[in-house]
Amino acid sequence: MAEIKGILLNGWMKFLKDRYGEQAVANGLGSLSPEDRRLIPTLFLDASWYPFDALHALRRLTRPMVTRADGDITTEIGRFMAQHAFTGVYRPLLAHDPIKQVEKFTSIGEFFFHEARKLETEITGPASCLVRYRYEAGAKPTRAICTSLTGFWSRSIELAGASKVTASHPKCFAAGSDCCEFLFKWAPPAS
Ligand SMILES: [Zn+2]
Repeated sequence: MAEIKGILLNGWMKFLKDRYGEQAVANGLGSLSPEDRRLIPTLFLDASWYPFDALHALRRLTRPMVTRADGDITTEIGRFMAQHAFTGVYRPLLAHDPIKQVEKFTSIGEFFFHEARKLETEITGPASCLVRYRYEAGAKPTRAICTSLTGFWSRSIELAGASKVTASHPKCFAAGSDCCEFLFKWAPPAS
């Protein structure tokens, strides 16, 4: 079963509380189904594993709170999860060089996710890389997960010192491609 580390789920909860307030989050939790409610404990333990379904429950918790003015909140949540993880207890996972950071993505991925997909990276230039996920047959990634991963890895590259990071998602398994590919580019290092 696919699982995710608690710290990322705590990052998502913190995002909601910062943005919408404790009360709105408490109200939202109160209106979830008992099943979803069970997937969101009062506190996730940073170092424990939780079922991927917790992400879907968090998405159902988030959806009613989002206003039109919020825009693309899925990318923002992915970014916030990276920020929360890499500036807290897991700071040592952060490199101080974008390329070195990308080289760590596979081990970082394994650290935060147990899953039926393999993460590969390819450095495509001095300031660009590809992140590729190969899914096992029958896996069903959602576009929301891909969007959130775009934010997560973009922010990870930024935290390692890159600026002007842009991301695109040219191939998506959910849209029938053989894998998911994300292309990240950033401002070339000053020489
Ligand atoms: Zn995808």
